[in-house]
Amino acid sequence: MNPKTAQDRIAQRIQAMRERYEQLASQDLYYYNIPVQELKGGARVLVNGREMLMFASYSYLGLIGHPRINAAAKAAIDKYGTGTHGVRTLAGSLPVHQELEETIAEFKGTEAAIVFSSGYVTNLSVIAALVGRGDYVFSDKLNHASIVDGALMSGARFIRFRHNDMDALEKRLASVPAEATKLIVADAVFSMDGDIIDLPRLAELARKYKAWLMIDEAHSVGVLGETGRGIEEHFGLKDVIDIKMGTLSKTIPSVGGYVAGSRDLINYLRHATRSYIFSAALPPAQAAAAAEAFRVIMDEPWRVEKLRANTQQFISGLQERGFDTLYTQTAIVPVLCHDDETAFKMTRESHKRGIFVLPVISPAVPVGLARLRATVTAGHEPEDIERAMDVFVEAAKEVGLPLKK
Ligand SMILES: *Cc1c(COP(=O)(O)O)cnc(C)c1O
Repeated sequence: MNPKTAQDRIAQRIQAMRERYEQLASQDLYYYNIPVQELKGGARVLVNGREMLMFASYSYLGLIGHPRINAAAKAAIDKYGTGTHGVRTLAGSLPVHQELEETIAEFKGTEAAIVFSSGYVTNLSVIAALVGRGDYVFSDKLNHASIVDGALMSGARFIRFRHNDMDALEKRLASVPAEATKLIVADAVFSMDGDIIDLPRLAELARKYKAWLMIDEAHSVGVLGETGRGIEEHFGLKDVIDIKMGTLSKTIPSVGGYVAGSRDLINYLRHATRSYIFSAALPPAQAAAAAEAFRVIMDEPWRVEKLRANTQQFISGLQERGFDTLYTQTAIVPVLCHDDETAFKMTRESHKRGIFVLPVISPAVPVGLARLRATVTAGHEPEDIERAMDVFVEAAKEVGLPLKK
């Protein structure tokens, strides 16, 4: 490396980060990138040679390792190999991609769908393809980073509104020129808090102010609605969302992202999103796995029901034990610890007792709202959930986190 000056800010940033993680590691409080050696099926994982109960999973319906999904991936490898010849527009579009897009459209009840190589990239490139300079993006304050990044990249005016506050959104909508092009974007289920966006009022405002509505269903597909179709099913609404975005990496045990919507919208995105045009197609095995996962959800509705029962048991059980779970109504369950240090210590004590859970601290959440971010899945059995809750109580006693009684 060539020599750097003492004022070099890149070197300073690297040094500051190193000091921060070395300090945490020295106290056994460093929980970033913990290697999980094996996924043991159900809700168990192997960490540092020890089997633990997984309470930090996005696999909400317990589909990782499902025999049908594994078989679909293997068959795709046998048929196509592991890669593609490049981007979709050149030589990368295989029958598995088309089949996946058709399956997603069927599942979401739309005319068409388009897939991208990740959920992050989907938000980034779709928002940037829809709006630009002179347009407006209205974004919930707790929206996922990929939405924020997409809005900033688009060059549109970026207007944030108070979390899930429809009066605040209406004020913002009313404050811009009536003829301006507007896009409202929100998570369906918020990834740190587990609460659900007020879609009925949001849709009403979108109609009233002639704004496009885009909803990110990363934590809503498989989770919300009688058959797991997502937030519209949850609220008994139909086609109020123009741009139905989701990921293939959470409930769907693969990788990738998608948008479902009208045929014209999807066609436009196929020609206008830079990541579709300049980044390689999904590997065939992952596309086939994702398509099969949607079919499994449709064929095994008990999974959605079980997740609902487990969620109910987990949230009400934690509240009965005196924990503050904020406003969650879904499988993402914050266990409030207040300060960062308590959150780290709660994590450590939970791990000691065989529960794999991770802390979320500032700046990911506001100062004072540090928490364990626990997730429950259809892979848990009722006794797993009881065990985790008992461990959290023991951990709280150990670290002095007061419980309401
Ligand atoms: C995880 C997540 C994404 C990104 O999806 P990936 O497929 O992991 O890139 C986007 N939005 C939300 C709300 C998420 O939670």
